[in-house]
Amino acid sequence: MSDHKFSKSDLVTAIPIACSNETAAVEFFEIQRWGDTPCCVHCGSVNVYKMMDRATGERNKRYLWKCNDCRKQYTVRIGTVYEESRLPMRHWAYAFWRAATSKKGVSALELKRQLQISYKSALFLMNRIRFAMMPDTATAPKLEGIVECDEVYVGGKPRKGMGKPHKRGLGTDKTPVFVAVQRNGGIRRRVITDVTAANVKDAMKEMIDDNARIMTDEAKIYKKIGAHFGGGHETVMHGAYEFARGDVHTNTAESSNALIKRGMMGIYHNVSREYLHRYLWQWDFCWNHRESNDGERTVAAIKSAEEKRLMYKDPTGPSC
Ligand SMILES: [Zn+2]
Repeated sequence: MSDHKFSKSDLVTAIPIACSNETAAVEFFEIQRWGDTPCCVHCGSVNVYKMMDRATGERNKRYLWKCNDCRKQYTVRIGTVYEESRLPMRHWAYAFWRAATSKKGVSALELKRQLQISYKSALFLMNRIRFAMMPDTATAPKLEGIVECDEVYVGGKPRKGMGKPHKRGLGTDKTPVFVAVQRNGGIRRRVITDVTAANVKDAMKEMIDDNARIMTDEAKIYKKIGAHFGGGHETVMHGAYEFARGDVHTNTAESSNALIKRGMMGIYHNVSREYLHRYLWQWDFCWNHRESNDGERTVAAIKSAEEKRLMYKDPTGPSC
C-alpha cells in the first residue's frame, strides 16, 4: 500500500505531490472520484479491490481494480477524458492544476517543456482538459440581476491598408466574442460570426433571464434588444469618456475580456476561429470558480472530467 492518503481537505499539499509521484497521482484521482467508497465503473458494485503485484506487494503496475461481482477489471481512467491516454496520471494532475490556476491560460508549448513530453501529447492533454471545463449550457441557469454585455475581438492581424483597427474590430480578421457577465456572478461567452443586432440578440435571449437589468456601452447593436429585458437597459457613453454612472458600468465584462486579450498576447499568440470556443471554456471555467482556492478549482475541473469523453473527432489523434 502507498503512503499517500488524501482527504478532500488537504488539497493544497496533495496536488503538488500528485504532480510528481505516479502512485500519489492515481490515488489522488481515485479519492476525488470515489471518496471512501470505491466502486466498479462497469456495474456500480462496491465489492471491489485493488489488484496487487505478488512479487513486490505494491499495487499492480497499471493500477487496476477488480470487481468481485461482474469480475471485470478497470482503472480510474475509465469513463473520463483521460480514458484513452497512456500519459502518466501525474502529468494529468499537473495539467489540470495549471489549467485551473492560470488566469490567463496555459499553452501546450509550456506543458511540453515542463513535463518533457511531445507537443502532440501536450496538445492532447490541453484539448481534453478544456473539454472537461466545457459548461453544460443546457442546464446552466440564465444570468440574472445586473448583467453586463460587451464584445471582444480576438486573434488575427489588422488587414493591410486599413489603417488603425476600429474599436469594434472593423478592418481586422479578428474573431468577435460576445460576453455576458452577471455582476458578482457567472459569465457566458460565445464566438459570433458577425457583431450584428440579430446575433447579439440571439445570444442574449439564450444566456440572460428576461427580468435582468442590462448594462452595455452605447453601441447601436444593443439599442433595440435592451427593451426585451424587464429590468431595463442602461448604457455608459464610452465615446464621451464616461466609464461609470452610479452602478451603471461594464467594467466587469471589460476586465474579464482583458484577461482574454492578455492571454492571447502572452500565452497563445494565435488561436483559429475554429478552436477559439475551447479556449473560452477554460477562461469561463476559471472566472466562474474564482471564489474557490486553487486546490478547489483544480478538483472542480477533475470532477467535470468524469463522465465526459471526447465525442468529437479530435485533430490531435486518439492516443498519446
Ligand atoms: Zn462490476
